[in-house]
Amino acid sequence: MKTEHPFTRRDFLKLGGFLAASVSIPGRWAELFAAGLEKMTSHTPVIWIQAQSCTGDSVSLLNSTDPEPAELLTRYITLVVHQTLGAAQGQTFMKALEQAASVDGYLLAVEGSVPLGMPKACLIGGRTAEDILVQLIPKAKAVVAIGTCSAFGGIPAAEGNPTGSGSVQDLMNKHQLNWKGKLVNCPSCPTHPKPIVGTLAYLAAKGYPEVDEVLLTPKIFYGTSTHDQCPRYHDYERKIFSKHFGDPHGCLFKLGCLGPLTRTECPHRQWNSGVNWCIRASAPCIGCSSPFFAKKKSFPFYRIGEQQHPVKYTENDRKGV
Ligand code: SF4
Ligand code: SF4
Repeated sequence: MKTEHPFTRRDFLKLGGFLAASVSIPGRWAELFAAGLEKMTSHTPVIWIQAQSCTGDSVSLLNSTDPEPAELLTRYITLVVHQTLGAAQGQTFMKALEQAASVDGYLLAVEGSVPLGMPKACLIGGRTAEDILVQLIPKAKAVVAIGTCSAFGGIPAAEGNPTGSGSVQDLMNKHQLNWKGKLVNCPSCPTHPKPIVGTLAYLAAKGYPEVDEVLLTPKIFYGTSTHDQCPRYHDYERKIFSKHFGDPHGCLFKLGCLGPLTRTECPHRQWNSGVNWCIRASAPCIGCSSPFFAKKKSFPFYRIGEQQHPVKYTENDRKGV
């Protein structure tokens, strides 16, 4: 999929700046991301496998606000294998996969959960996704679980699902593959392109990032709660609460907003070229990047008329204590 890239050092710095714009120390991160992106165009191939996935994260990647990082990844970076973005299909795809897997040190991106209780529910070229991932993981420099399905199970792992879906970490546990210092989770439904490209660039430039001990999420992109950065936070503090969904005034906590328990940069970077995001549209955060997203039948995304928050929440939860 790779073609010769036309980028100069200045271009890489500009792209690094785009990625760094959403994290707290732009100057420092811009150079690091630039170095990682440059490395990915020459030395560090990316293998992207989609298991039980709706392709939402790949679509999100293509909808990048600043198209250059996504264009760089899909057109110039050594994205050697991708089921939907690559031209190779059928046996050609399987051959490309075998070839890519024969060289150590690639970055392995995984989108979608894995049907651990019914492996044949997800076949790629006649092989189970589980079998392919077990082959690919040991030789990878790092594994990046992209999207909540891959990171925590997400929608395919909802209560009552018949396939025994699990996360990449569940798969690694099942096959006794060591995930410490190797697996990075980049959840959200879907994941914004900046954490995707930024995490891959960081891994290429510097290696394993600082992650949350439990969630394995990179602190650069998932370091603070949505609540802490929310423009309605002052309403929360003053106990001014929204009366109904769509209410442009007040904090949405009493309508079930999960912002306090969810770690993303949504308030800063927003979605659709920075046009909007859930809370600006006066809809509660449904915790799409959290491990309990879509897990319980008894805990639907929206709970009409509810006046009490469904989750016991203390300030310590928000701080990750
Ligand atoms: S509870 Fe939700 S709406 Fe209220 S301040 Fe926190 S994130 Fe914003
Ligand atoms: S505000 Fe919450 S539900 Fe909306 S995209 Fe961000 S993390 Fe997901």
